[in-house]
Amino acid sequence: MHTLPTLILLGPPGSGKGTQAKQLSKKLDYHHLSTGDLLRSESQKETVLGKKIRTYIDHGELVPDEVIVNILLVSMCSRFNSSGIILDGFPRTLHQAELLYNKCGLENTTVILLDVNDEIITKRIIWRRSCEQCGHLYHLKFHPPKIEGKCDLCGGKLFQRPDDLSAVITKRLQIYHKEMPPIVNFYKSHGILIIIRGDQSQTAITASILAQLKGLKLEQ
Ligand code: AMP
Repeated sequence: MHTLPTLILLGPPGSGKGTQAKQLSKKLDYHHLSTGDLLRSESQKETVLGKKIRTYIDHGELVPDEVIVNILLVSMCSRFNSSGIILDGFPRTLHQAELLYNKCGLENTTVILLDVNDEIITKRIIWRRSCEQCGHLYHLKFHPPKIEGKCDLCGGKLFQRPDDLSAVITKRLQIYHKEMPPIVNFYKSHGILIIIRGDQSQTAITASILAQLKGLKLEQ
């Protein structure tokens, strides 16, 4: 069991968890653990497990708890040379939240919920493109690449994640609305949930989160 401060980022797909996690990990020197990234990297392997994971992700379904828990809890138990851990994309079910609680407790844990409505989410995700090499994210309307189809940072090819297609987004949002309320209640009942408006600019969201953490003395 680790004793590092842990920040759990909750929110619907496309709410900016990944972007915020990257910013916060730099500012706070926290290790960023994204279950989506861990699973995508596993899914690129031509193994039975890799192919199974890819099918779930591409259809917008949650990867079964036993798979994700093995992958994540192994990482959680590693020794990180950082001041804390940011969990991005975990937990996604109450069962995952309980497993994490049983394994690590909630001491030193803060949960941030990025609250964004479905209409904004759908608009954001439909125009989202990722770099296949470095994973940098673009929005074709509000943050387009300088050269169409190419990443500004590394020149990699931009692609649309199969799970960012319109029908799949609808399914991901349905699953989110079914699974998230019990998780939110669980953390609320432990008094560690902070809700942040996710429809502000990325910088404003980072600033709001840091201000909240400062209030909790997690950030000096
Ligand atoms: P994300 O990049 O966080 O949007 O995750 C992409 C996809 O990975 C999700 O739609 C799920 O299929 C899968 N995934 C990520 N995190 C989890 C999790 N904690 N539990 C189950 N599936 C997950």
